[in-house]
Amino acid sequence: MGTGIWSMHFVGMLAFSLPISLGYDPMITVLSLLIAIASSAFALWLVGQNELPVSRLISGAVLMGAGVAGMHYTGMAALRMTPGISYVPSLFILSVIIAMLASGAALWIAFHLRRLLPMVRQMRAGAAVVMGLAIVVMHYTGMAAAQFPLGSVCGAVREGVSAGWLALVIIIATLAVLAIALIISVLDLRLESRTAILAVSLAEANQELTYLALHDALTKLPNRVLLEDRLGRAIQSAEREHGRFALMFMDLDGFKAVNDAYGHHVGDLLLIEVAHRIGLNVRSQDTIARVGGDEFVLLAEVAEPADAATLADKILAVTRDPFQLAGRELRVSTSIGIAMYPGNGSDQEELLINADAAMYHAKALGRNTYCFFEASMNANVHEQLQLVQDLRAAVDRNQLILQYQPKFTAPNGPVIGVEALVRWRHPTRGLIPPDQFIPLAEKTGLIVPIGEWVFDEACRQIAVLRNAGHHDLTMAVNLSALQFRHACLIRTVQETLERHLLEPSSLMLEITESTAMHDVDASLQILQQLHDMGVRISIDDFGTGYSSLLYLKRLPASELKIDRGFIRDLARDTEDAAIVSAIVALGQTLNLNIVAEGVETRAQQEFLTRLGCDCLQGFLLGHPMSADDLIDVLSPDGVLQEAT
Ligand code: C2E
Ligand code: CA
Ligand code: CA
Repeated sequence: MGTGIWSMHFVGMLAFSLPISLGYDPMITVLSLLIAIASSAFALWLVGQNELPVSRLISGAVLMGAGVAGMHYTGMAALRMTPGISYVPSLFILSVIIAMLASGAALWIAFHLRRLLPMVRQMRAGAAVVMGLAIVVMHYTGMAAAQFPLGSVCGAVREGVSAGWLALVIIIATLAVLAIALIISVLDLRLESRTAILAVSLAEANQELTYLALHDALTKLPNRVLLEDRLGRAIQSAEREHGRFALMFMDLDGFKAVNDAYGHHVGDLLLIEVAHRIGLNVRSQDTIARVGGDEFVLLAEVAEPADAATLADKILAVTRDPFQLAGRELRVSTSIGIAMYPGNGSDQEELLINADAAMYHAKALGRNTYCFFEASMNANVHEQLQLVQDLRAAVDRNQLILQYQPKFTAPNGPVIGVEALVRWRHPTRGLIPPDQFIPLAEKTGLIVPIGEWVFDEACRQIAVLRNAGHHDLTMAVNLSALQFRHACLIRTVQETLERHLLEPSSLMLEITESTAMHDVDASLQILQQLHDMGVRISIDDFGTGYSSLLYLKRLPASELKIDRGFIRDLARDTEDAAIVSAIVALGQTLNLNIVAEGVETRAQQEFLTRLGCDCLQGFLLGHPMSADDLIDVLSPDGVLQEAT
């Protein structure tokens, strides 16, 4: 804007001819340009403010007008005329007033055109014409005021810049400045719209993430996290308004059979359809959540327990109707446990546990029915609650310990590795085996900190063993389903290995077959990451889950552990023997190390060795033992000796 005003003035001067030759003093010329730029900057700052009250408009107009006039008369002074130019006072004053009025008009228009009015483009163009005309009028009024006495000489002719050069410089500079301004404002506009687009997609991504964190991926129903939040609110509002609600715990009967017979894909379709049907039968303010494989929880506001019963009947009826899925007719039913608030529990945890207990009662009554919670049902619920509380503190209080059970090369050694098995040294109940608290820890999420502790301790111990000379020993650590799916797993493994300076190959992670085969694609991804790190994978309790051969082939596992259920009756049960020999053959084809666990007798040991098992684990060869005992009995060549 400053350059524009200034170039108008100087191009005007170039059109001005005197009978003598003219030149321009460079310093004064530059000064006049600076004045134009400074007053333009001031003007733009002024119209960029939030408000433009009249007083500010007037003072702005005066200052900017003075700037424009100052530019003009400084530019005239660059001629360095001798004797000096004399100005007609009235015209001089008029030119200054015109400059101020034009500036005032321009400021006012510019301020008001910031908003996007209709026809803003035309109005802006009109404003530019008004402003341009005003500056031109000011210029020629100023020129009319100028009088050059006869015999005047232009002092800037010799050292100053000649008019031709000045024209060139002005034209190039002005065009350049305008072009740059244009380019910058276009870029700015682009950047702004890009930023706006990015901001929108960021907001969308955030929304998506929040949604994912609070919903079940399969059925799109709220998950446990969101359910607990809603349950908390329901308790508060029932408290406040003396209201009532029912919490129903629902478990499908016969779902596992469908899964086993037709595969997970059909099982998933069934769950989606069940969720859909239940959703159609509850009100929009009720919450229906999926909290486990085939477990759903309904939180519904009701006036009477009888209303809850009606609702439960409706759900029983709609899930009992056959489903037409994947070209088949499938039938399931539901068992429902109902806990009422107030009455059947004071907080979320207690309500859920009580509804769960009532659900088990419904199952015991023969399924396909509902059952209201009664105090007699939770004889051990309080005990369980107490246990959860104790478990929460167990890690901090150092109550967990690890025992190590050796894995032998068949038939009787040497020892190639050990498996870490956790126990809980409870202050009053004594040593609690993992079967009695791992499921509880899994249900409450406590498995994550517990698992991290186990992992760290097992890694610390294998580092000690390896440094004591057992260089080839591997440490096997059991991972529960929740740990396996936990987002931090890979990082935890990596950090723990680094902390103990362990090679990844010294570690074997045991996950059960059903964990690995549930949501196979996600499992494959996690297993592949672990495999790429160099950690070895063992498929535990093999034979109890539902494995697809296709997936088994793709699993980056290095070991299969035949479930001890098959080993137990090996000598008597020909079916088990057939299964075990089939698993061994399968494992050999897939190049997997085959481990038989739960080996208790010589007969089993011989039989399994003959079938081709690579490794054996069991009470016959070695019980789980403390680290100290292990170091005592394990000789450097991996043979287990009698304790001294
Ligand atoms: P698992 O992974 O199948 O572990 C083998 C279980 O079989 C151990 O029971 C072990 O003591 C027992 N066992 C070993 N040899 C024999 C035998 O000859 N006969 C019989 N009858 N049993 C034998 P434990 O220690 O009670 O562990 C039970 C389950 O708890 C484990 O089954 C595993 O699934 C889980 N578990 C143990 N420690 C952990 C842990 O740190 N984290 C996780 N997530 N789960 C663990
Ligand atoms: Ca295991
Ligand atoms: Ca096992």
